[in-house]
Amino acid sequence: MNGALVATLATGALVVALILLARWRWDGDLPGAGVTAASYLLWTLGCAGLVLGLPAPVFWLGLRPAVFAGFAVATAAAPGVEGVERGPREWAFLLLDGCMTVGGFFGMFWILARTQTLIPERAGPTWGLLWLPVQMLLCVTVAGLIARVAPTHRMPSAVALAVGLIVLAGDTLALVTGRPTVGIGFWLGGGLILAVMFCLRGASLFVHPYHLEERPRPFQLWQLPIPYVVVYIATDYRPDAVIAALNCLLALVVFAELVVHSRRNESLWSSLRERNRVYQGVLQDSQDVILQIDAEGMIEFANPAAARVLSIEPDALVGTVLREHLHPDDTWLVNRAAEAFDWSVQASMRVEARFGAPVPFGEPGRSGSTVEWRSIEWTVSPRAAGPGRPGGRAERGGGWVLAGRDISARIALERELVLAARTDGLTGLLNRPAFLSAVDARLAENGGAAVLFVDLDGFKGVNDTLGHAAGDRLLCAAAECLRQAVGRYDTVARLGGDEFAVLPRSFDLPEAREMADAVVTAFNGFDETAHGRRSVSASVGVVILEGGPPDRGATELLRDADLAMYRAKQRGGAGAVEFEPWMSERVLERSRLRADLETAVANEALTLHLQPVIDLHTRRWTGFEALIRWPVGGETWSPAQFLPVAEESGLIVPMGAWVLRESLRQLAGWRDDTIGMAVNVSAQQLVGTEFFDITMQALEAGGISPDRLTLEITEQAAIQDLGRTASRLESLRSEGVHVAIDDFGTGFSSLQYLSRLPVDILKIDRKFVWGLGQHAEDDVLVRSMIGLAAELGLEVIAEGVETRRQAELLLEYGCRLAQGFLFSPPRPIEELRSADPFVSPALRLGAGVPRQAVGTVGPRVTHG
Ligand code: C2E
Ligand code: CA
Ligand code: CA
Repeated sequence: MNGALVATLATGALVVALILLARWRWDGDLPGAGVTAASYLLWTLGCAGLVLGLPAPVFWLGLRPAVFAGFAVATAAAPGVEGVERGPREWAFLLLDGCMTVGGFFGMFWILARTQTLIPERAGPTWGLLWLPVQMLLCVTVAGLIARVAPTHRMPSAVALAVGLIVLAGDTLALVTGRPTVGIGFWLGGGLILAVMFCLRGASLFVHPYHLEERPRPFQLWQLPIPYVVVYIATDYRPDAVIAALNCLLALVVFAELVVHSRRNESLWSSLRERNRVYQGVLQDSQDVILQIDAEGMIEFANPAAARVLSIEPDALVGTVLREHLHPDDTWLVNRAAEAFDWSVQASMRVEARFGAPVPFGEPGRSGSTVEWRSIEWTVSPRAAGPGRPGGRAERGGGWVLAGRDISARIALERELVLAARTDGLTGLLNRPAFLSAVDARLAENGGAAVLFVDLDGFKGVNDTLGHAAGDRLLCAAAECLRQAVGRYDTVARLGGDEFAVLPRSFDLPEAREMADAVVTAFNGFDETAHGRRSVSASVGVVILEGGPPDRGATELLRDADLAMYRAKQRGGAGAVEFEPWMSERVLERSRLRADLETAVANEALTLHLQPVIDLHTRRWTGFEALIRWPVGGETWSPAQFLPVAEESGLIVPMGAWVLRESLRQLAGWRDDTIGMAVNVSAQQLVGTEFFDITMQALEAGGISPDRLTLEITEQAAIQDLGRTASRLESLRSEGVHVAIDDFGTGFSSLQYLSRLPVDILKIDRKFVWGLGQHAEDDVLVRSMIGLAAELGLEVIAEGVETRRQAELLLEYGCRLAQGFLFSPPRPIEELRSADPFVSPALRLGAGVPRQAVGTVGPRVTHG
């Protein structure tokens, strides 16, 4: 007996301890778990008393009902459904619940008490079996009540039934054997299972409320009449008056209660389900990440958007501390927001804080991850009342709810917009406005500044001939070259086109000069011509405004640097020039010139001078070279004065077309239709697709046969875009037009291209002709040029023949055609008309060279 006592007390204590432990671990409500534990304690003591010899009726009639009463109290103390006010109606329902439970128990125990004395006599299998359904209902009730104590606790009916069956088996055994203590162990076993279930938090027995899908149904409606039926049978169909009255009363109460209860339950559950659906939908589908953190900042909940917005699975976030995910520089923002929260208003706050999203890298097998800082805009609100605090105001220490939205894209866009407003899209350097404001800032700070204006020489050619893509590549390379050439702290900008600018950190004169030279040198080494294309160089203008009251702003400084750069260009490029005040006037002149030239071209106010080409054998004119002139005021400007402007502004194209038309028109009116006309053509004209048509139309308009026209192109113009130039010239040549290489010998790649270009004539530059008979090298050069031409089957024309000696030597070396002041300067056609087409004065030509008339005149060429 003593062993049984100890076992009862020990197991009872264990059950109570487990229930209390469960309460502590699971933050459950104190009344529910506490009363459950107390009930068990009472029951254990009762059992112990029974073992010690307590009279059975005290146990059956006193302690057992007390246990169930305890459960009833626990039910009443159970928390309501969150968000549902427990008003008078709710209290009434609870009261009904209690009445029913207590009444039910009372009724049953009345029967038990009455039959108690009969049990020993009637004990036997039949009675045991009859007792079974009663016990079953009892157990189900107990389990159901416990389930109700914990509303967030899904207690599957199966478990409740299992517990009930265990207890039932014990009681049945006790009745059958007539020894009440036999059931004790079974009761304790059932209690233990319930207690363990309380402890199994996190096991599948517990789920979050919003995961509730099925309504727990510890009671089944059909089970309710069972006790009455059973009692009716048990009392041999002779219920006494008390039982009958009690039954009627109970039936009524139960019926009323059930109807009301089930109605209320239905509506409660459907509203709960609806709310859960909405709530869950909001959480699941939210584009924003939603985090719930406790007062210490530990994340307790994260919605699925976390995976997308923060690249961390919600489950991995839960249990971690929010601060550890935030950018170290931003944690204080969140802290401050929490501190500055206005508890009286309780409006949520907005904070922008970067969140470290892990970004995987590496191959699948051996990968790791780096942290990518995502800019998140957090809406921080204090956590509203939790279970037990329905609908209440948020309180300090209750934790926070954060709704986060990824604004990285927006921030990046903002940054890009700011950047785009300040930088040049192609090269990434500062743009003109940004550069000007940098200069202004420097002036305001130091009172002085140096500015370098860098312009690429020959860029236009690349752009026009190789196309814009090549041009863009060249500009990027140039930007890089410039950045390398200057210091890390010097500001570099692209002003537009091929114009760049540098704002050196210091405005010390020698340093600025040094930097300008460095830039020029860097660009001399800079070579886009790896594929045999033209290379560019840089012209640099330097302006320095030393400390003191600034007399010029950024715009003026840049303009002056531009003027200095233009001087550098005029000096042939690839050099640096420092600004001097007189330059300002020059530029005004230059822009006026451009405007005037434009008007002149449009009004065809230009004129042509023709220079005869002489056949040294026959001393006759074989053709003319058309050279453009611009009558300005009383004087006539030579091409050197306006051609650079025409080339630069593109005016050269309409101007060249006019020269073609006009020269051929003049030729058409010339008395001798064997005379040819040579026209100078610029690279820009050749590149245009319409050049062929323009030429052919000019020929047709003048009724001139194509073989009377020679197009003169310089080597440099020809090789800029060798392929296109060659094909354009080839198509014209197939019409009969001749092609001459002008200024032969002054280009840098003379011979290499000669064989690849469709050429008929070489024009030896006057700088070689000039030295004939004076400098032995020039004689050698001219002779070898003539020899080369003969080899290639080309005609040769010597330019700039000013002396008889030169003419005689040329003839001696085998050059038949020449032009120069010796014979005639370029003159208007009217003057030429009255001149003698024979060379005057007569040359004293070398022996063996007969003076003969040649039938065919003009450059006549055979090709090898
Ligand atoms: P270029 O094609 O070499 O033309 C010959 C230049 O040499 C002409 O200068 C002519 O006046 C000059 N000249 C002729 N004989 C002598 C001489 O005995 N001694 C010296 N010292 N010079 C002589 P101009 O007319 O000033 O033309 C200069 C350049 O302008 C031309 O050089 C040509 O490249 C270009 N040019 C002239 N007219 C046109 C044109 O209509 N279109 C194009 N694209 N260029 C033209
Ligand atoms: Ca020429
Ligand atoms: Ca020439």
